[in-house]
Amino acid sequence: MNKSQHAICSALLAKGPSTRREICAVSDLSWAAISQSASQLLDMKLIAEGHNDDSPRKKGRPSSQLFLHASLACAGVSINRDGIDTELWFPSSGLRARSERNYDVQEDPVPTAIESLRQLLAENPDANVVCLGISFPGLIDTDRKNVISSVHFHEFLERPIAMEFEEALGLDVPVFVERNAVCDMADIVVREGAREDMLLLSLHSGVSAAVLVDGQILYGNSGNIGELGHLNHPDSDIPCACGRVGCMETLVGWLAWERGYKRLRREDKSLPSTFNEAVALGAPEAVALLRESLHALFPLLGNLCVLLKPGKVMFATNLSSATATVFSTVVGRRLEKALSQHSPKVELLSEYSSVDGAAALGALWLSGHPHYLI
Ligand SMILES: [Zn+2]
Repeated sequence: MNKSQHAICSALLAKGPSTRREICAVSDLSWAAISQSASQLLDMKLIAEGHNDDSPRKKGRPSSQLFLHASLACAGVSINRDGIDTELWFPSSGLRARSERNYDVQEDPVPTAIESLRQLLAENPDANVVCLGISFPGLIDTDRKNVISSVHFHEFLERPIAMEFEEALGLDVPVFVERNAVCDMADIVVREGAREDMLLLSLHSGVSAAVLVDGQILYGNSGNIGELGHLNHPDSDIPCACGRVGCMETLVGWLAWERGYKRLRREDKSLPSTFNEAVALGAPEAVALLRESLHALFPLLGNLCVLLKPGKVMFATNLSSATATVFSTVVGRRLEKALSQHSPKVELLSEYSSVDGAAALGALWLSGHPHYLI
């Protein structure tokens, strides 16, 4: 796709159905470039055209609107320790076809993920997939689309994961691999726009952060800005999967919570079967575990807020919404106390799956985001 084709898709993703004139007004492209690229996108069946009968009629016939084609789909794959999610997201309608798979953590998750996506594609034969985004917990080489390493998957060393998907599925579309947090941030930017600076913490298998400043997600030279899961916490001596002790991930995030809760349940068999349930029901032991874990995160979170001055701190996690309410209340109060008048808003995406974020990478590519130009 060329620059003006991306600009048209960007306008349609952000504003919904629009006339050529409206697209021209929000882009820095000429009328001729818009018209020509719109014709090409219509031929490619990436966009469609129609009349909006609801709009107030001016003189003559209503001007026709362009919109994203109903079949245009962004595919997403999220690989985590607790499961594999695959998704087809249709931006025109907002519909999402999703599949969730469990797998044995001793096994290689990639063949299962490929199989799951293959099945989803077969179930949705009309989907015109234009991009595949892969969300992965680990260090990513975004240029070469390799996983550099991941403590959650030891066999993932310099692994060309994007190529494996391309080859197995015979995909001829752009494939991008990013850390969970970058995908989650992409999803927020696509849903809400990049209206204010944001710090996002993803609490999935591990903990990682993404930063949005002046409307741009920060990638840095390494592409791994915000990879903070293995920062040492001085008060912890819990062994981490990376081989060291006291990493942030041993205290915060799903692996930490599940391990901590298992220990609590060994001591008290009457506790509810899951951590989520226990916090939601207000079991004091479980709430204390959540508080302790957030206590560990706070010095770092406070420093990041001072450094970046985000308007909003977001958390993306699959905590249940009841647990999330407890979580955001604790976080909000602590931040307010620590930062006084400069305290950012705190928001939490509960029951959140990073597969939405993986699919959202497709929207960034469609919009012509410089990091995803190929
Ligand atoms: Zn570690």
